[in-house]
Amino acid sequence: VGDSAAFDRSVDSVCPYCGVGCQVSYKVREDRIIAVEGRNGPANAQRLCVKGRFGADYVHHAQRLLTPLIRREGVSKQLDPNFDPAQPWTHFRPATWEEALDKAASGFAHLRAAYGAQALAGLGSAKCSNEEAWLFQKLIRTGFGSNHVDHCTRLCHASSVAALLEGLGSGAVTASFRQAEQSDVILLTGCNPAVNHPVAATFFKQAAKRGAKLIIIDPRGQALSEYADEVLRFKPGSDVALYSALLHVIINEGLYNAEYIAAHTEGFEAFKTSVAQATPEAMAPICGIEPERLRKVARLYAQAASAIIFWGMGISQHTHGTDNARCLIALALACGQTGRPGTGLHPLRGQNNVQGASDAGLIPMFLPDYQSVADAQARAKFERLWSTPLPSQPGLTVVEMIHAMEAGQLRGMYIMGENPAMSDPDLAHSREALARLEHLVVQDLFITETAQLADVILPASAWIEKEGTVTNTNRQVQLGQAALPLPGEAKPDWWIIQALAQRMGLPWEYSHPREVFAEMQQGMASLSHISWQRLQQESAVTYPCASPDQPGQDIVFADAFPRAGGRAAFHAVSYQPPAELPDQDYPLILTTGRVLEHWHTGSMTRRSQVLDALEPEARAHLAPTTLQQLGLPGDAWVSIRTRRGEIQLRVRADSSVAPGQVFLPFCYQEAAANLLTNPALDPYGKIPEFKFAACRLEAIAEV
Ligand code: SF4
Repeated sequence: VGDSAAFDRSVDSVCPYCGVGCQVSYKVREDRIIAVEGRNGPANAQRLCVKGRFGADYVHHAQRLLTPLIRREGVSKQLDPNFDPAQPWTHFRPATWEEALDKAASGFAHLRAAYGAQALAGLGSAKCSNEEAWLFQKLIRTGFGSNHVDHCTRLCHASSVAALLEGLGSGAVTASFRQAEQSDVILLTGCNPAVNHPVAATFFKQAAKRGAKLIIIDPRGQALSEYADEVLRFKPGSDVALYSALLHVIINEGLYNAEYIAAHTEGFEAFKTSVAQATPEAMAPICGIEPERLRKVARLYAQAASAIIFWGMGISQHTHGTDNARCLIALALACGQTGRPGTGLHPLRGQNNVQGASDAGLIPMFLPDYQSVADAQARAKFERLWSTPLPSQPGLTVVEMIHAMEAGQLRGMYIMGENPAMSDPDLAHSREALARLEHLVVQDLFITETAQLADVILPASAWIEKEGTVTNTNRQVQLGQAALPLPGEAKPDWWIIQALAQRMGLPWEYSHPREVFAEMQQGMASLSHISWQRLQQESAVTYPCASPDQPGQDIVFADAFPRAGGRAAFHAVSYQPPAELPDQDYPLILTTGRVLEHWHTGSMTRRSQVLDALEPEARAHLAPTTLQQLGLPGDAWVSIRTRRGEIQLRVRADSSVAPGQVFLPFCYQEAAANLLTNPALDPYGKIPEFKFAACRLEAIAEV
């Protein structure tokens, strides 16, 4: 990354990191990215954060996979701490594409013949294109014959989507984040946009400077607090208690929008009953916020002319994640804060294409566009499109797949661009289960922790090296162009999926992603009027879109919701504590998340020279007061234990962390935070409780 004047071509694409979906131009010289500039995209208006600007060099990393690999006979499948991804030859041997694809496909065919379709599953990727997500789920459903297909949405916003589908009839945002520019009140909860959605955060700051009231409700402090009018740092895990109190105040003081509720919703009376006892006085001891401050914030939100809510994984990654999101939906519905400029409900989506991958059906209970696999009519539509009978049983979710591996029910897996051996909760357990698979095929850019357990490794393409569409958190479908040639023998992911499908007997003949996109338009009403040609001309089109010559709808549900009768629904909630509470043996609260410079399991950003130089080391973040109580200096080495495992790393004093809490980034393989996390699931979204576990900490000598 350097002098942008000295490039020999400039190629337009989209940033491969977060769900903001910043449009970029890659400046290329001699087939290397030398600079990245922000374009005037609808989500970024020429802005980029440090990852978008400096995080492209991972594609040139020396550990890049350049040829297919096959595991050597007799090499153990346990993770080897001495394994060197740059010198994998002790564990793997190079293979031709022909041999690797034959071995991959015949392994799946053998298991399907021996144990049936339920023995096979796939994890697709929110970092691949929409077309690749579509092909991946189509292969699992029509080639493997099961609905056991999922991706990282299960670890991210699955509970938010469950609540939104149930309450509004749609799992996507009701308004883009740039509606905040017109809001009177902006509520940020369970999210840290300056770290995780940095360009979106710049619009929130500007809105606050313009005069919008910013409310932040989160156990952790954050940089945006400086711009906030109200900051409620409540007790971790008590979200439902806090929001029930806010709703109680709004109902008790008659601040709700009776006209909106009567015209657009159902279930309000039952909901009222569910929060009738949740007075601020009753909830204050649970959530740790004084009753008068709860009242003040409830009034501020309810009396705003326009208010918008943004949330992140602080809301969703709990065993009560769906209830948390139900509270936010109830807040917006009770006050009539959707469907108008400056209003809305917006779960800030994590990965760059998690919205698009979910829309394309990379989930076990839904066909594309959230059409239930159990709905015979929906199945019939796709059976006609794909000329194949489809399974009707909902498939297994990410953590359920691990349980099925342990039980010997799941024996073969195809994993594209995901790294469950780093991202799943209770990693020792998950890694053991993955190692038990009889046939594991991993398609990726590097030999990730998951790929180390594979039988066959297929070298894939980085987003920067291929053409395709992605959909950001705002529902904006955007086109990316290939800026670089593929290195070595690496192939585009869509090509690899098709090559496997053909070997499994499927008559696929796609020659370009645009043909896949055309097929998607036949199955997905959400993509109506968004042609490939249009994307080439306009770069981004928001769905839903009413006609080929109109922009898509930035705000949806002004008149009706896509539910029976057109009404949104309130759902009753009741406070439940987290699954594992601190006790004498494990007295601290563990929470995990991201840091600005790194992305998810670090497979890309830790191989980016600039990003890894900025944040090279795993640190456990604790409040200075907690460190003081424990008698630890600010860079002490510690052991952190939960009931599931132990890691060793240094601490960092961080006043944004609540007293008694430990924050761990989950991107460092040398101190993998998910060795400690709790796999307990939200019953609806099936998302694990990454945001709360009981832990203990002890000082150790330097490692
Ligand atoms: Fe990329 Fe997100 Fe940063 Fe934009 S905000 S440059 S999409 S990581």
